[in-house]
Amino acid sequence: MKDLRKNSQQCDNDDRYHMLFERASSAIVIHREGQILDANASACELFGYNSEGLKGQDLLSFVEGSGEEIRNIIPNGTSRSELRIQKADSTLIDVEVSSFNIDDDGSVQGAIIRDITEFLDARKTLQDNLRFIGTLLDTIPSPIYYKDRNNVYIGCNKAFSKDIIGVPKEDIIGKNLFDFSHAIPLDTASVYHKFDMELMLKGGTQRYEGTVRKADGKAGDFIFNKAVYTDYTGKINGIVGVMLEVTDYKKAVQSLLEKTSLLEGLLRSVPDMVFFKDRKGVYLGSNPVFSEYVGIPMDDIIGKTDFELFDQETAEFFREKDRAVIESGSSRRNEEWVDYPDGSRVLLETFKAPLRMPDGNIIGSLGIGRDITGRKLAEHSILEAKIAAEVANRTKNEFIANMSHELRTPLNSIIGFSDVLAEGISGDLNNEQARYVSHISNSGKHLLGIINSIIDISKIENGKVELYYELVDIIDLINESIDLLTPLAEQKSIVIQVEDRSASRMCIIGKTQISQVLYNLIGNAIKFTHPGGSVTITIDEEEDVFSISVTDTGIGIPHDHLEDIFLPFKQVDSQKSRRYSGTGLGLALVREFVEIHGGHVKVESEPEKGSTFSFTVPKKVTKNEDRPKSL
Ligand code: ADP
Repeated sequence: MKDLRKNSQQCDNDDRYHMLFERASSAIVIHREGQILDANASACELFGYNSEGLKGQDLLSFVEGSGEEIRNIIPNGTSRSELRIQKADSTLIDVEVSSFNIDDDGSVQGAIIRDITEFLDARKTLQDNLRFIGTLLDTIPSPIYYKDRNNVYIGCNKAFSKDIIGVPKEDIIGKNLFDFSHAIPLDTASVYHKFDMELMLKGGTQRYEGTVRKADGKAGDFIFNKAVYTDYTGKINGIVGVMLEVTDYKKAVQSLLEKTSLLEGLLRSVPDMVFFKDRKGVYLGSNPVFSEYVGIPMDDIIGKTDFELFDQETAEFFREKDRAVIESGSSRRNEEWVDYPDGSRVLLETFKAPLRMPDGNIIGSLGIGRDITGRKLAEHSILEAKIAAEVANRTKNEFIANMSHELRTPLNSIIGFSDVLAEGISGDLNNEQARYVSHISNSGKHLLGIINSIIDISKIENGKVELYYELVDIIDLINESIDLLTPLAEQKSIVIQVEDRSASRMCIIGKTQISQVLYNLIGNAIKFTHPGGSVTITIDEEEDVFSISVTDTGIGIPHDHLEDIFLPFKQVDSQKSRRYSGTGLGLALVREFVEIHGGHVKVESEPEKGSTFSFTVPKKVTKNEDRPKSL
């Protein structure tokens, strides 16, 4: 107003001053302590009165409210205030009033009144928007901050203040990176500061990863996404940073990588082919064995189908099998001949299963294949060799049995006629002739024994032994064998004793075979005992079995031969036992005959002291209905 007055004084022209007053676009009112002395055209328009209507009115009567606000309108000196005034048509408008003294004593004042309704509306909208943005930022779980050109924080969201720095927003604003060394160590802060400065210089955006100690004391991995913000002229005003926590993500990625590499390692080391396809039969992956078979690198197999790897027929066959496991949801095993691109033909044993996601959803098929061509061929050869061996063995046994039968007939003639000669029926023999005839007879009988044993052994091997079960008195059976062998024992002055410790004596057994067992064991005991020795037969009884032992005081058996003497034709090959005749078939028969009764044979022996052969025989073998009659 001073300037205005000065100007008007310079012009020294009241009319020009008045014109300026009248034409001013701002409303100007001149008043004395509120009473309006003059008002320009803009003021008349603002209040809705003509100049005469306004003059004399109390300016305060237009102002809404009372007290402080009204008093502000008539200040002592220059002031600005925002008020609400009522126009002539009773509408209210917001105005900014700038007051100034016109008189030196301040009794006459001017007021420039500006309609600020639009300005206030805009300001309110701005405030609403800022509040909205604040809420929005606080709702975002990622820490967000913004700084000015000097790298001083001018704002942040709740996640940044609470989770990262751990102090209220107000304590962050106005500070910089170096003020929070508990969260950002100084050396890290210098690095971030450098990044900030670079960004502010170059503009645009920036992205990097870093580790931050969070408010809870735990270290967190973050991706920093930063960008500059500018004013309306495009001048960089500062930077905005958004931090994305990737700690859990990195851990998950790490564990996934570990699992993946473990699985990859497994796949690589599996000696079988492994492959997996999606529901449409497109390969999702495979292992090196499969890649080698199809002759295509593993990476190139991915994305192909069987129709690109195999001939049409094979591919359709595989497609069918895949479809079956996907549709049924269950796994299958197949054996199939497959022609490979390299021309090889292999027998594959494949195991196919549905490929499922963790939620059970079937996304394709998984196959494990093994080349069993070699195994099948080997199995086949083994089977053929086994059949051939069995045929050869049967032929051999049949040949031996037939030959033995053929030999028995002439042998019986030899024995029979030599006995006839010995008895002198066809004339007396001199001593020498009698001795020769006796040799013929003894040798014939020995040969017959061998032939009979061979027949028995081949019968066992051919499974043709037939047991005819009879009710037998076991003591009688023992005595029968002793009777047959007594002449032999007497020749060597060997005493045979029987110790019967059993309460019962009857059993149902294959009489011929058990009789043969007893004969062989007692015969051996006499054969391998020095003259003057003794043979003791003991009969014990347990609940369902008889246990019979034949003990001699003979030459005994070396420990390393205790097992193999039961093998056919096996004899202890020593200077001493060589002196004894025999075929090595006796004990083999003993074991077979005892075992087909369900019993067991064992031997205990001490060289030069004697041996004990024991066997058990169930009393009622026939009661066991599972036991076949013919073995
Ligand atoms: P063989 O008596 O006809 O030779 P065996 O099968 O009956 O055939 O016996 C096999 C071998 O076991 C005999 O050659 C002998 O070396 C040994 N042996 C069997 N019984 C006795 C025994 N009581 N004392 C010593 N050695 C024996």
